[in-house]
Amino acid sequence: MTTQVAFIGLGAMGAGMAANQAKAGRQVHAFDLSQAALDKAVAAGCRPAASVAEAVKDADIVITMLPAGAHVRAVYGDEVLAHAPKSALLIDCSTIDVDSARAVGEQARAAGLRFADAPVSGGVMAAEAGSLAFMVGCEADDYAAFEDALTPMARAVFHAGGLGSGQAAKICNNMLLGISMIGTCEAFALAEKLGLEPERFFEIASKSSGQCWSLTSYSPWPGPVEAAPSNRNYEGGFLTALMLKDLKLAQEAAARSGATTPLGAQAEALYALFDGLGYGQKDFSAMLQMFRGKLASLDG
Ligand code: NAD
Repeated sequence: MTTQVAFIGLGAMGAGMAANQAKAGRQVHAFDLSQAALDKAVAAGCRPAASVAEAVKDADIVITMLPAGAHVRAVYGDEVLAHAPKSALLIDCSTIDVDSARAVGEQARAAGLRFADAPVSGGVMAAEAGSLAFMVGCEADDYAAFEDALTPMARAVFHAGGLGSGQAAKICNNMLLGISMIGTCEAFALAEKLGLEPERFFEIASKSSGQCWSLTSYSPWPGPVEAAPSNRNYEGGFLTALMLKDLKLAQEAAARSGATTPLGAQAEALYALFDGLGYGQKDFSAMLQMFRGKLASLDG
């Protein structure tokens, strides 16, 4: 029997993810508030649904890819939990706050449904290519079923722990990434001021204790890493506005849990400044040009 998937939220990420579920031979019932997004999903092999309730009514798997916690709480609380079959697997892949993920998961459990928070690492290109990494928060007994449901969209699926652990893994990882990218940008800016060739610094630090992903896989200095957005005037990649969203979630989580994250707070402030200067749609590594005093180079 063909697996029935309900896919809610067909934006920049959801479009490619829903298409990959359809490509895997699953019947995808798609819904989005935007008609243009729905039309695109239909062109990619999905069936249009007129509402969330209609999309989920016969679903084996429900997947949501929505902007923020408020949307996820509303879509599950008002519609999915009331209309999905009790056997359905519910998977929220949006990046949202840990509290919302846990609250929706508890509500689902109380209604007799299995729920996972499963945010992704990877952007629009990975969503289209089916090469996202998923960090899954769910009951251990349910994990194998969730892993199978996510496989058509994934290069890797990790069980992070219980409800909310997927979101926790995502914001901790991205806080580390945001901080390490700023450190990498500052180091390049200082190297340049000191008259050290940035390319030479790259070679040395890549083989020394400063080595990190932000340097060797995603160099903010154009040149050394061919695929990095720094070689395309920081277009595409991971948008500053999205990094800022994740750092805000990390700071909210730190405040609620009592964790001490001073560098996370500094990183949030710096990305907020960069975003406020009008560079929210540039890749997050473009921060380098702010430290170099060369913001105008981004405007060309
Ligand atoms: P997007 O704004 O492009 O898409 C969200 C879609 O949800 C829109 O099409 C919108 O119409 C739809 N929507 C909103 N409320 C709805 C509702 N009640 N019912 C049905 N549809 C509704 O956002 P995106 O870039 O696809 O991001 C989605 C999620 O993925 C976010 O949580 C984001 O943080 C996360 N994320 C994005 C990226 C990225 O590179 N874009 C990477 C990793 C994670």
